[in-house]
Amino acid sequence: MSRMGAINNKSVAEESLRQAENKLKSLNRVLSKLDSDDFGICLKCKNKIPYVRILIRPQSLLCVNCPQYLF
Ligand SMILES: [Zn+2]
Repeated sequence: MSRMGAINNKSVAEESLRQAENKLKSLNRVLSKLDSDDFGICLKCKNKIPYVRILIRPQSLLCVNCPQYLF
C-alpha cells in the first residue's frame, strides 16, 4: 500500500473512531439519566421526546423540534 493510501486509511479509521466515541459519550449521558426524571425530556425545550425517537436514536437528548447541532 502506498504511503498516501495508508495515511488516508488512518484518518478514515480515526474519524469513525471519533464518531463512535461521541456516540458512546452521548449514550452514557442518556444512561446516567435513566433513573432521573430528565429521561425522555428534551434538554433544550423540556418537551417530552417520543419513545419512538429514543428507540431510533437513543443518544438523542433533544426533540425533533430543536436544532441538533449540540450533539
Ligand atoms: Zn426540544
